[in-house]
Amino acid sequence: MGLLSEGTPLSWEETKKLSNHVREHGISQFINLYHRLKDRTGDILKWGDEVEYIIVKFDDDQQVARVSLKAEQLLSHLNEKELADPNGVKSLWRPEYGAYMIEGTPGKPFGGLMAHFNLVEANMRYRREEVTELLDKDECVMSITNFPRLGAPEFTHPIYYPNPDDPNSSAKSLYFPDEAIYPGHPRYKTLTRNIRKRRGEKVAIKLKVFKDVNTKLPVEGAPKGEPDVVLLDAMGFGMGCCCLQLTFQACNINEARKLYDQLAPLCPIMLALTAASPVYRGYLTESDCRWNVISSSVDCRTEEERGLRPLKENKFRIAKSRYDSIDSYLSPEGAKYNDVPLTYDEADYKRLRDGGIDPLLAQHMAHLFIRDTVSLFSEKVDQNDEEDTDHFENIQSTNWQTMRFKPPPPNSSIGWRVEFRPCEAQISDFENAAIVCFVVLLTRVILSYQLNFLIPISKVDENMQTAQKRDACRKEKFWFRKTSKKSCYINGNGVNGLYNGTTKENGETENEEFELLTLGEIFNGKADSFPGLVPLIRSYLQSMEVDTDTHCTIEQYLRFIEKRASGEFVTTATWIREQVLNHPDYKKDSIVSDRINYDLLKRIKDIQEGKVIEPMLLGKGNHSKTKDSLPPALQKQLKLNGCCENK
Ligand code: ADP
Ligand code: MG
Ligand code: MG
Ligand code: MG
Ligand code: MG
Repeated sequence: MGLLSEGTPLSWEETKKLSNHVREHGISQFINLYHRLKDRTGDILKWGDEVEYIIVKFDDDQQVARVSLKAEQLLSHLNEKELADPNGVKSLWRPEYGAYMIEGTPGKPFGGLMAHFNLVEANMRYRREEVTELLDKDECVMSITNFPRLGAPEFTHPIYYPNPDDPNSSAKSLYFPDEAIYPGHPRYKTLTRNIRKRRGEKVAIKLKVFKDVNTKLPVEGAPKGEPDVVLLDAMGFGMGCCCLQLTFQACNINEARKLYDQLAPLCPIMLALTAASPVYRGYLTESDCRWNVISSSVDCRTEEERGLRPLKENKFRIAKSRYDSIDSYLSPEGAKYNDVPLTYDEADYKRLRDGGIDPLLAQHMAHLFIRDTVSLFSEKVDQNDEEDTDHFENIQSTNWQTMRFKPPPPNSSIGWRVEFRPCEAQISDFENAAIVCFVVLLTRVILSYQLNFLIPISKVDENMQTAQKRDACRKEKFWFRKTSKKSCYINGNGVNGLYNGTTKENGETENEEFELLTLGEIFNGKADSFPGLVPLIRSYLQSMEVDTDTHCTIEQYLRFIEKRASGEFVTTATWIREQVLNHPDYKKDSIVSDRINYDLLKRIKDIQEGKVIEPMLLGKGNHSKTKDSLPPALQKQLKLNGCCENK
């Protein structure tokens, strides 16, 4: 998303009246853009990450850590360079939901060279340094998924108190003051208010508390009859979390549809591997991930839509929040695994079909358009559907799913892209870079070896829930596509005989079975069954020309992933739990006190700065050969070829 344009948000009542207007024109806009762009081809692989960060302020006298509400001020400085030289900057900065959050991306996407994998971590480091220069001495920019005491008393700097009875409050939260919502653009408060109003009540995020010997029940604020529930009541508890996202450009729309599908079953797998958020509102919980929290935090469905009352005002029962895992595959191979009935309006579907959209894409779009707009600006109401895409983007960008299918933006050189959205943010640049490079490499392997990871959507849904359980990385099993032939081994030349998940040319799949595997088996392989994601990548790399430094860096990343999957290293979530449980101040009551929070965050700061090595997380430390720019020889070659340099 570009620098957000300012605008005047409409009231909820006005927005609601225009929901069919947005739907109707949004669908027309999609049909038009589809015909303009469907034959676009020859785009090269480009990719880039997005990392979200929280600004933390340490009060060393009181030993308290708080989120610092200075994102707007920071962004005004961070964006200066971009405004002066939009194509020359090494990083781009955008606001996020929290007034204490910022999002950073590389200045330009990375390209198709293997050497680009060696630039990611250095770019992430650069971003961190760039922000750090603007901070006070007692502040720190941290890529933590959730601030453990978010919503606990006095968690912000400056301190603000929630004001749920204020008629002007957007969130009306008992815990999360409106001042913690990003103030620099009206989008965030508008979404907060409209989601609450559409739903008809405040959002309700329920997490089971981690029950320790002294845990006091009911938990403070628990709903009636659910004493062991930590209740969170505002959008900020979810959208105020940080994540790590990745976008890839495909060579054409069909490749984008294929990647969208093949990566979808890997979303829960990567969520489990990157689990990093076990503490909410100062309580240890039974969950290791943000996903269900953020999903509930923007759940704008009414009671009718959630199935709690018979349908009267609304059209459909809707199974999921607008923030959730995808509901259907888009490629021809995926069609038969679409085993969950899709909710959509037949009339919308028919318009898309009559508009020349094939059934799989038409049902995907019709399903996105069951959602009403929850944020509309007066300047954007009337549009030219032949050229504009704002109404389409309005609905598309508020369907926050595990994967996003991104059409090319109007009048740009950008092609069809897919976005991979499940991963939690990790503490260090090393970890974040490892995950990014791993997923990008996986897309290369999927395309080169024609791998097939498809399993029924219902099983992906099941895996999403499994992924969030406490220590799922070491303890749980996940549905995975079964490979029956024994010929699926790897030799020096690549995959010897096809890994049996492969799709045949006629689109028929060779076998239809799925098995439950541990993350260790999925990543590192299981004898006679699946070669493992990491070995598949290694095999692919053997057939590529890679310079020594890049090779070394990638190998460090692969070893890290391998070990985390095998359980030799633990997830960030497990490590955070250990820190809390072993803290001298911990009273075995599930409570993460100010003091524990402070020490935990200080420890995280030391880890991200490389001052402390945590063997449980990262072994004996990692020494990637990451670089700020491509080696001169490659830069020269790229210039000759007229390609982007990505300095
Ligand atoms: P979002 O809409 O998801 O917030 P952002 O613009 O914040 O998207 O980030 C998208 C990511 O995609 C960035 O890392 C950016 O470098 C990368 N990117 C930009 N252009 C392309 C492209 N043509 N192909 C693939 N990735 C791209
Ligand atoms: Mg972004
Ligand atoms: Mg965003
Ligand atoms: Mg973001
Ligand atoms: Mg994104």
